[in-house]
Amino acid sequence: MKIATRVIAVITVAVLTAMPVLAAEPADKPGVTIFATGGTIAGSSKSNTDTTNYTSGDIGVQQLLDAVPELEDVATVTGEQIANTGSSNIDQAILLKLSKAINKQLATPDTHGVVVTHGTDTLEETGFFLDLTVDSDKPVVMVGAMRPATAISADGPFNLLEAVTLAASDKAMGRGAMIVINDRIGSAFYTTKTNAIMLDTFKAIEQGYLGAFVSSQPHFYYEPAEPTNKPSFDISNIDSLPKVDILYGYQDAESSLLTAAIDNGAKGIVLASTGNGSVPKRMEEAVKKAMADGIPVIRSTRTGNGIVSPKEMGIGSGVYNPQKARILLMLVLSQTDDMEKIRGYFE
Ligand code: ASP
Repeated sequence: MKIATRVIAVITVAVLTAMPVLAAEPADKPGVTIFATGGTIAGSSKSNTDTTNYTSGDIGVQQLLDAVPELEDVATVTGEQIANTGSSNIDQAILLKLSKAINKQLATPDTHGVVVTHGTDTLEETGFFLDLTVDSDKPVVMVGAMRPATAISADGPFNLLEAVTLAASDKAMGRGAMIVINDRIGSAFYTTKTNAIMLDTFKAIEQGYLGAFVSSQPHFYYEPAEPTNKPSFDISNIDSLPKVDILYGYQDAESSLLTAAIDNGAKGIVLASTGNGSVPKRMEEAVKKAMADGIPVIRSTRTGNGIVSPKEMGIGSGVYNPQKARILLMLVLSQTDDMEKIRGYFE
């Protein structure tokens, strides 16, 4: 080898050795679609220390995605804005639109899972609705935040990264809809909001969590399983659901609100009753009449926990808290008006 050639060869080897090793292009990343509906995770405030006075649903889905470029490391992410509002404004039209959009998206082979960004106030209702109406084993992950996007230490961006990581994970298959917040994974079937303002608000006191995140990676405590007797509903041809109202239980409660709700068009009633779904004597006649008229009255509990047992009066709500019992009753009434079949979904 001539000297000049040898020098070039040495330089070439030296340059190649000094070059950073380029990681092999990762195989196609899992596809995850984010359906945005608003809430605090998309909220903004004039002050970065005010975590209670802010506008929910102020930031669009693209801005949410732009705030977390790390999402691209775990999934091929697309976004769709379904609504942009505080979750107390989520109604059955939005629920039906969202569930249909998710069923359609999950049917595409490139989609591994979906994430729904949502206000935390009624997140459990939407999660429960999706759990009962999405026909797929692929992950459906609900995510929210307790601090608006503009706050110091906003929790939304990390929650979103964890939710997308979960939706992209094979470990999340066959677990129904899940709720991700505060580094925990909860089942949407059982989990409920338990604190008005704190970060660790989503819990299922009796049933616990499905898993947790460590450095944004999901760890499950159990193999995939379904809640006992979990029903499912096909809403593909449904455009509206029957009206169901919830009435709170308290000392001195009487029947006038129950009667007013029915006069106002309620096709079913859920009582957020005291204790094990107690019905005060003053309401008994109205409950019996409603049941006889084909309007189911579900006795749930305001206590936050417990399986409300069957009694002579009305229908015991079983494992469902009042807000979940309402969602279930709306779905059941869209399928049947047979009171014994309705009872069977709860008791
Ligand atoms: N008010 C908000 C909402 O539900 C609360 C939240 O997202 O945390 O939209």
